[in-house]
Amino acid sequence: MNVARRKFDALIIGAGGAGLRAALQLSNGDAKVAVVSKVFPTRSHTVAAQGGVNAALANVLPDSWHWHMFDTVKGSDYLGDQDAIEYMCRAAPKVVYELDHFGVPFSRLDNGTIYQRAFGGQSQNFGQDQAARTCAAADRTGHAILHSLYQQNLRARTHFFDEYFAVDLLRDAQGYVLGVLAFEILTGEPIVIEAKTTLIATGGAGQLFRTTTNALINTGDGMAMALRAGVPLEDMEFVQFHPTGIAGRGMLITEGARGEGGFLINSEGERFMERYAPRAKDLASRDVVSRSIATEVREGRGCGRNADHVLLDLRHLGADTIMQRLPGIRETSMTFLGVDPIEAPIPIFPTCHYSMGGIPTNRFGQVVAPEKDTPEDPVPGLYAAGETACVSVHGANRLGGNSLLDILVFGRAAANHILEYLAENRYHRALDESAVEQAMARLTRWDRKDPGDGSAEQVEPLKRELRKVMEDHCSVFRTDEVMREGVEKVRALRERLNHAVIADHSSTFNTARVEAMELENLMDCAIATIRSALGREESRGAHSRIDFPERDDQHWLKHSLYSLADDSLDYKPVRTQPNTVASFPPKERVY
Ligand SMILES: Cc1cc2nc3c(=O)[nH]c(=O)nc-3n(C[C@H](O)[C@H](O)[C@H](O)COP(=O)(O)OP(=O)(O)OC[C@H]3O[C@@H](n4cnc5c(N)ncnc54)[C@H](O)[C@@H]3O)c2cc1C
Repeated sequence: MNVARRKFDALIIGAGGAGLRAALQLSNGDAKVAVVSKVFPTRSHTVAAQGGVNAALANVLPDSWHWHMFDTVKGSDYLGDQDAIEYMCRAAPKVVYELDHFGVPFSRLDNGTIYQRAFGGQSQNFGQDQAARTCAAADRTGHAILHSLYQQNLRARTHFFDEYFAVDLLRDAQGYVLGVLAFEILTGEPIVIEAKTTLIATGGAGQLFRTTTNALINTGDGMAMALRAGVPLEDMEFVQFHPTGIAGRGMLITEGARGEGGFLINSEGERFMERYAPRAKDLASRDVVSRSIATEVREGRGCGRNADHVLLDLRHLGADTIMQRLPGIRETSMTFLGVDPIEAPIPIFPTCHYSMGGIPTNRFGQVVAPEKDTPEDPVPGLYAAGETACVSVHGANRLGGNSLLDILVFGRAAANHILEYLAENRYHRALDESAVEQAMARLTRWDRKDPGDGSAEQVEPLKRELRKVMEDHCSVFRTDEVMREGVEKVRALRERLNHAVIADHSSTFNTARVEAMELENLMDCAIATIRSALGREESRGAHSRIDFPERDDQHWLKHSLYSLADDSLDYKPVRTQPNTVASFPPKERVY
């Protein structure tokens, strides 16, 4: 097939924190590496991260990686894989100091060390009320990290394909992943990028829901690519709703606002979190706080004309703290609500924030799928890291500040493993042309014109409907009946998408085509999410079933695996055994 071709040792799809950290390690390791990103690298969603990155540096209060590990296992509602969590928490200080040396301008304490704030789910250890483990650059930590990593990559001469859209993975009959078909958004020209290894680092799928903190580009493209390449997705039912989104709009007010001492109040002016989490209160983990807010509103104690939100009060912190530590969220609140948090509390409600599930990997970043004798057989040549992956360090609920850590630690670990793989696999395998043709068909499908008989569907309304269906049928509280209806509705929408056409067929910067392909990816992620949620008959972490309110370790301490080809669910055990310390057995989770 007559398509432009390029060859690299290592290909990375995604230029967020995970992709860039991996690329830097590879470029510094003398691999020939390409990074493909559908937006300019520093526009990736990592740039929006506010609160910070966790590491037990103990700069403010006593701390250790082992406490960090305990909090993460507990926060995950015991579904996290403890070998990976242990690895991440041990690596955290090193990875943060590396960032410091890459030029990230962390906020400082008076003695010059890195500023750390309290975040949700950080335990009351060593007799202290609270740990303070989240390293912050004011409330713009992700921005600082992403820009530093990008600059370091420029220095290391990483090759960037900016504003290229990856369509599908190219996999051969033996199962090797040999690169990707992409197209340049500017010209519409397709390109085959061949590589000995491919790392998916495409971020989350927060656009699945109508109200979300996520950027428009977070459409689960990599997850859908993996599904279509025959890799099942893990734990997709676990979607994090952040407690403090701007009411009715969804933009994020960082947990750091509560870390600095802010608290939530209902229409009666009551600090209601004291009832739900007597010790940790407003800094209980996110699933707990989100459910508490939703319950307050359901029981009629919501604020505003429609009694549909609660308030986040920061006034007592004073203007200085707000302007120094939380300048970004003050601006967000003033821009989108006209509310200055120095003078008035901010109306907030839970909003979709993070995909705990994703492409299954081991702690070396290798993508793994069930094979005859093992639930975790590496897919040759394929890696994943960051929010698109499920390694799984977050289990059923992620702690704030642990995702920036996850993307850095596992971006780096995957790159190290890739370097080993490259040393052993020196030559490119021959590409299977039928794989290219198949991927091209997905691209050219959007050249189809409107048949003019009224059967054609439009992309934008379908996307709106999908996000509404997900919000109505698979959100903070779930039941069998409501989700069953949801599955049917998503299926119907997916069928209608087959009849969709776009009006713009030009090749130059055709965003209509990009959006259409993103919606296809969202549809695959939606079905994986709601099918996995319907399957899990218990409540754990972010997955809260009204019809099965208890956690059920006997039957459900296991990961879900959803496969697209036969629309089936399977399960695999949790890796409960860390490498150097004792396992944390499941306990009741109270804050
Ligand atoms: C508003 C907000 C605030 C947050 N704050 C924090 C925080 O304070 N602390 C914390 O730990 N976590 C935070 N998180 C979560 C964290 O920021 C993200 O989980 C993390 O940054 C994801 O990084 P990533 O590298 O996996 O993906 P992203 O940064 O999302 O990057 C994805 C990349 O993939 C590329 N891509 C995607 N699809 C394609 C395609 N088809 N073709 C080509 N390229 C593609 C994109 O262009 C982009 O470069 C926050 C998240 C949000 C939304």
